[in-house]
Amino acid sequence: MSKPLVKVKDLQKHFPVHSGMLGRKTGVVKAVDGVSFEVYEGETLGIVGESGCGKSTTGRLIMRLLDNTGGSIEIDGRKVSELSKQDMRAMRRDIQMVFQDPYASLNPRHTIGKILEEPLIVHGLGNAKERKVKVSEFLKIVGLSDYHINRYPHQFSGGQRQRIGIARALMTNPKLIIADEPVSALDVSIQAQVLNLMQKLQKDLGLTYLFIAHDLGVVRHISNRVGVMYLGRMVELAVSESLYGEPLHPYTQALLASVPVPDPDFTREVKLLDGDIPSASNPPSGCTFHTRCPFKMERCLQEVPQMIEVKQGHSVACHLYDGAQ
Ligand code: SF4
Repeated sequence: MSKPLVKVKDLQKHFPVHSGMLGRKTGVVKAVDGVSFEVYEGETLGIVGESGCGKSTTGRLIMRLLDNTGGSIEIDGRKVSELSKQDMRAMRRDIQMVFQDPYASLNPRHTIGKILEEPLIVHGLGNAKERKVKVSEFLKIVGLSDYHINRYPHQFSGGQRQRIGIARALMTNPKLIIADEPVSALDVSIQAQVLNLMQKLQKDLGLTYLFIAHDLGVVRHISNRVGVMYLGRMVELAVSESLYGEPLHPYTQALLASVPVPDPDFTREVKLLDGDIPSASNPPSGCTFHTRCPFKMERCLQEVPQMIEVKQGHSVACHLYDGAQ
C-alpha cells in the first residue's frame, strides 16, 4: 500500500453548549470524540454515518476550517496544528473541498469563469492569460465547454453545477479532495455520472479522496476502504470488500440492510435501525450504540469498546469481538 497522505490520531472536537440569560457554559457536544484513521495516497476512504455522527466535522477539521479540541492531524508528514498561517495557506492549495450543495457554494453573481479563476488568484498562481487557459482546460476535464465560461450558476443543472464545484476544487492541483456528500443532492442517474467523473479524475490526476456520505450504497463503488462513524466515533474501518462482504459492527449491518436492493424476492436477515441517533450532548454510557443495538449486553452499558483489528485490514469497536464477553 502507498504511504499515508493524512494521519488522524485520536481527533476530538467538542463544542461548548451555552444556555440561560448569561449564556453560561452548561455542557459540551462531543461532535468528534477520539477518531483515528489514515488516508493513503491515491486511495478513496469513504466515511459514512447518519447525520450528526461527526463525519462532516471530521472533514472540516482536516481542512482546518475548524480547530480541533484534542488529538492530531498530519498531512504529508506535517502536523497541521503546528503550521504557521502562511504554511497553512500554502497547504490549502493541496487540500480542497467539494460540497454537498453546489448551488449554495457557487457565488450566484459570478460567472463560471470568475468562480474557477478565483482559487488561482487567491493562491497567486499564473498570470491572467495562464489562468484563462487553465479555466478552459478544467472546464473540459469535467465535461463542460468553453462557451459555459460566461454563464452564471443558475443557468446550469444540478449535475453540471457539481461538475463546476469539482473543477473549482481541482484548479490548484490539490493532492487531497474532501468531498462532503457530493452527490446527495443529485438525482440517482446524475449521481452515477458524477461518481464516474470523480473516479476518472482520480485515475488521471492521481488524486486522494476522503468521501463523506450518509449512505453506504453511495460510497461502495468509489471507496477502497470505508470507515463507519456513530456519535463522534469510528465504529468500523475496513477495506471495502471486507466491509460490504462481512460487516461486523451491528450498526454497519443495519446501515447496509437499509440500502435498497432491486430484487423483489430479496428478504432481509438484519433488522433495520430503530429510533434516532441519540444527542451528542448527552450520549449513552459505554457503547453509545447500545440504545439501538439488538445484541447489547450488560457490559455494553458500562465499557466503551475500543477499535481492534479483527482481521487484516478490518477493525471494529464492539464487545462482540474483543474476546471478553
Ligand atoms: Fe452492540 Fe455492545 Fe457491540 Fe455496542 S458493544 S455494538 S451495544 S454488542
